[in-house]
Amino acid sequence: MTQPDNRHITLIGAGLAGAVLATLLVRRGWRVDVYEKRGDPRVQGYGGGRSINLALAERGRHALRLAGADEAVMQHAVMMRGRMVHFLDGRTDLQRYGRDDSEVIWSVHRGELNVILLDIAERAGAKLHFDRGLSGVDFDARTARFTDPRDGSTHEARFESLVGADGAGSSLRAAMSAHVELGERTEFLGHSYKELEIPPAADGSFSIEPNALHIWPRGRYMCIALPNDERTFTVTLFLPNEGDPSFATVRNGEDARALFERDFADAVPLIPALEEDFERNPAGLLATLYLDRWHLDGRAVLLGDAAHAMVPFHGQGMNCAFEDCVALAEHLDANPDRAAAFAAFQAERLPNARAIQAMALENYLEMRDRVDDDDYLLQRALERTLAQRHPERFMPRYSMVTFQRMPYATAYERGRQQRELLIDLTRGHTSLDTLDWSAVDHAVRERLTLLPMDA
Ligand SMILES: Cc1cc2nc3c(=O)[nH]c(=O)nc-3n(C[C@H](O)[C@H](O)[C@H](O)COP(=O)(O)OP(=O)(O)OC[C@H]3O[C@@H](n4cnc5c(N)ncnc54)[C@H](O)[C@@H]3O)c2cc1C
Repeated sequence: MTQPDNRHITLIGAGLAGAVLATLLVRRGWRVDVYEKRGDPRVQGYGGGRSINLALAERGRHALRLAGADEAVMQHAVMMRGRMVHFLDGRTDLQRYGRDDSEVIWSVHRGELNVILLDIAERAGAKLHFDRGLSGVDFDARTARFTDPRDGSTHEARFESLVGADGAGSSLRAAMSAHVELGERTEFLGHSYKELEIPPAADGSFSIEPNALHIWPRGRYMCIALPNDERTFTVTLFLPNEGDPSFATVRNGEDARALFERDFADAVPLIPALEEDFERNPAGLLATLYLDRWHLDGRAVLLGDAAHAMVPFHGQGMNCAFEDCVALAEHLDANPDRAAAFAAFQAERLPNARAIQAMALENYLEMRDRVDDDDYLLQRALERTLAQRHPERFMPRYSMVTFQRMPYATAYERGRQQRELLIDLTRGHTSLDTLDWSAVDHAVRERLTLLPMDA
C-alpha cells in the first residue's frame, strides 16, 4: 500500500491567493501542484474581466514579504495617500488615510500582480497547470478531474488534499457541499458595478492627482477611481440594481453620459470613451458569501473568495485572502494531521472573515453617503485628534484594518467601542473648540484599553 504523501498538496486556482499560497508552501518545503482554469496570463495576456486594479494594504504586503514578492510588486504600485472627495459643485478635498506617508495604501494592477506572483511561484518550484478547470472530485478515491476549456478534454490527478483558491464561484466548494453541509448562503447587495477608464493626459501624465483614491459620493451611489502605473485610472461606477438612478434606468451609453453630466460633471471630460466603456464592460454583481464550514476533514479546505467573498468597499478581499494563505501555511506546518490543521485554520480565520465582511458592508454606506456629512466630518476630526493624544489607546478603525495586522475581529470590536465614544463626545457640538478636553481624555482612558500593536 502506498503511504500518504505528507508534503504534497494540490491547489485549485492560480489567481491571487493560489499563487501566494503556492509560494509560501514551496518555501516551507512542500511540493505543490496548482491547477488553473484559464490559460497562462504570461503567454496570452490577462483576461481577468473584473476589477482592473486593487488596493494593497499592510496585511497583503506582509504576506507578500513572506513570499519574497513584495519588492517586485511594489515596483508597479501607485501610492494612494487618502480619499480625494469630489463634491457635486466640483470642489475637491483630500482626506488622508493615515498620519503620514508611512500609512498609505497602494494601487496595483490585478493582471500585472497575478503575472508577478505566478512567476515567483514557478521560480520557487510550484508546478503550475493552466487550462485545467476543476470539473469533478472523487473524495473517496482522492482523484480530481480537470477539463481543458479549449477542447473539452478531461484529465485526472490524484491528491492528498485539495485547497480551493478558486474564487467566489468555487467549483471545489460545490464538490465539497455534496459531502458535507457547508452552511452556504450568499447575500446580494442589490448594487452592481461597472468599470470605465480615464486615459493619460495629452502629455502622457496622469490627468488627475495620482496619489489618491478618488471618490464621487452621491448618497445611494458613487464613483471611485484608482490610479494605474501606466498613468491611467480605472473608474468604478457603483449603482443600485433598482430605483432611479440604477442599472435598471441607466441602460446604455447615452443614459450613462446623462448621469455623469448631472452627478459626476468634473469626471466627464476625463472619460472620453464613456459610452463605449459603459456598453462594452459587463456589470458585476456584489455579494457576501457566508459559510459555516470551510473544510472536508483533511481532504479539502477553502480560502480567499472561495470561503468568504465580500463586497469591495474596504479594499480588503485580496488582503484578507493573502492573510489566509499565511495562516494556512503555518497551520499545515504546525500540524501533521491535515484535518486538525484545516480545523485550526478555520477556527482562526472564520471569525475574522466575518468581521471584515461586516466592515466592508458598513464602509459602502460611509463611502457613498457619509464622507461629506458635517457630523461625520466632526467625528473624523475628533478621531484624528484622539489618535494623536492617545496613540496607545485610540486608532481609527480604518487604520487598524489597513495599516495594522491585529485580527479583523479585534479591529471590528474596538471600532465599535470607539464609534460610541466619538458619538457621545461630539453630541451637541459643531466644532472641536467647545469640547472639555480633560473630560475627553478621562473618557478615553476609562473606556478604551491599550491597543494590541504589531510586533
Ligand atoms: C470591483 C472589485 C474591487 C475589488 N477591490 C479590491 C481591493 O481594492 N483590495 C482588495 O484587497 N480586494 C479587492 N477586491 C477583492 C479581490 O478581488 C478578491 O478578494 C481576490 O481576488 C480574491 O482572491 P482569490 O485568489 O481568492 O480569488 P480570484 O482572484 O478570484 O482567483 C480565483 C482563481 O481561480 C480560478 N478558477 C476558478 N474556477 C476554477 C476551477 N474550476 N478550476 C481551476 N481554477 C479555477 C480563476 O480563473 C482565478 O484565477 C475587489 C473585488 C471586486 C469585485
